[in-house]
Amino acid sequence: MAARFKYIIIGRGMMGAAAARHLSQWTDGAALIGPPEPEDRLGHDGVFASHYDEARITRTFDGDLAWGTFAARSLDRYAAIEEESGIRFYTEAGCLFAGPEPKRPTDYLRRALDVSDTLGLEVEEIAPSDLQSRFPQFSFAPHLAGFYEHRRAGHINPRALIKAQAKLAAGNGATLIDATVTSVRDAGSHVEVICGDEIHTAEKVLVAAGAFTNFNGLLPRPVDMRVAPRTVVFYELGDREAAIFGSMPSTIVFGETDEDHVYILPPVGYPDGRTYLKLGGDTESRSFERLEDIVSWFHSEGDSVEREKLAAIAEKLMPALAGRPVTSAPCVASFTPSSHPYIGYTQSRRIAVLTGGNFVAAKSSDELGRLGAVLLRDGEIPESDFGSRLAPAFR
Ligand SMILES: Cc1cc2nc3c(=O)[nH]c(=O)nc-3n(C[C@H](O)[C@H](O)[C@H](O)COP(=O)(O)OP(=O)(O)OC[C@H]3O[C@@H](n4cnc5c(N)ncnc54)[C@H](O)[C@@H]3O)c2cc1C
Repeated sequence: MAARFKYIIIGRGMMGAAAARHLSQWTDGAALIGPPEPEDRLGHDGVFASHYDEARITRTFDGDLAWGTFAARSLDRYAAIEEESGIRFYTEAGCLFAGPEPKRPTDYLRRALDVSDTLGLEVEEIAPSDLQSRFPQFSFAPHLAGFYEHRRAGHINPRALIKAQAKLAAGNGATLIDATVTSVRDAGSHVEVICGDEIHTAEKVLVAAGAFTNFNGLLPRPVDMRVAPRTVVFYELGDREAAIFGSMPSTIVFGETDEDHVYILPPVGYPDGRTYLKLGGDTESRSFERLEDIVSWFHSEGDSVEREKLAAIAEKLMPALAGRPVTSAPCVASFTPSSHPYIGYTQSRRIAVLTGGNFVAAKSSDELGRLGAVLLRDGEIPESDFGSRLAPAFR
């Protein structure tokens, strides 16, 4: 039987939409299958995603060379994607890390400085004595130093980036299908992608379903990946606070322990017409094994204890936020044991996987999508693209 499509990508998220754009530049016969964001989160019982938001931090300063490279290559292409799609998604607000000056070679900030040297990044080091006066919106602990990427950093709108990627993929001839895949089967000469009553066929399939990759029988065997809840806190800003925080960069603050790390997005306008400053942290509480538990999590407003903790950190760090209305929302992050994304074939030479964002992949999604597309087209990812580090592990 002749397959209808050459390639099917499952998951119209950050990586899948990027993969579809790249593949559709090189070949005909690509399809991108995935549901749109649910309009009614609380009434939706299907799959969700990790990108239902208006802002994600983008930067190249990173403790890992592969992640830094993926981010830099993606940043190189933001302007072209914006121009060709007519959809703006990138704000060059800069990105500041505030943390204790690194002492050991293995400290994250030391490794990030080494990666910056390797990649030739422009990162300004700011002494603890100068940090406060440079960023007066904050009340930093006196021992914190700054590591500031003024250019080629800031934030992207993940919804808008996906829209741009999908628009360009469709413009190149890719077929977009609004559906949730309920199973995938290697039928010997081709792959069957089943969406309820409908069956789509392809020569090869790339599963890019984010935190939902191990559900719905998308893979022959599940990947070794942990799906963990994350709570996001939103401060609704009035004109006064919007003015105070309006010029801040995207900011990541390292506390004494990993549990105290927070990331903060500058004020961003949301679809409800209001302006919010958003923050989140890295607290590890549990992971999800069952789809129904992830769905229940998305029906919540996140974890109330985590919300209180983040709000306390926020108001200590940014006293002008005190008294503003605070809300929270749920999200999920997918962690691999290697801390690198998975981009490789499964037990079937016709079914590949692209997932494992490790809480940092939004900014780099265009390059990760490109690598997923290279894998389908060429059958492998070269070592110059970190190929062996991206090999998926299975359970
Ligand atoms: C709270 C939070 C904050 C974050 N902040 C940042 C940040 O500041 N900077 C950064 O770079 N990264 C950040 N990230 C990480 C980033 O958002 C993720 O790494 C990224 O979204 C992962 O992309 P993905 O394509 O793998 O998954 P997703 O974007 O989640 O896309 C997966 C897609 O698959 C679809 N899907 C699932 N199951 C099926 C199915 N059965 N059939 C069809 N389609 C299916 C879903 O509908 C979804 O659209 C953050 C993540 C969270 C949770």
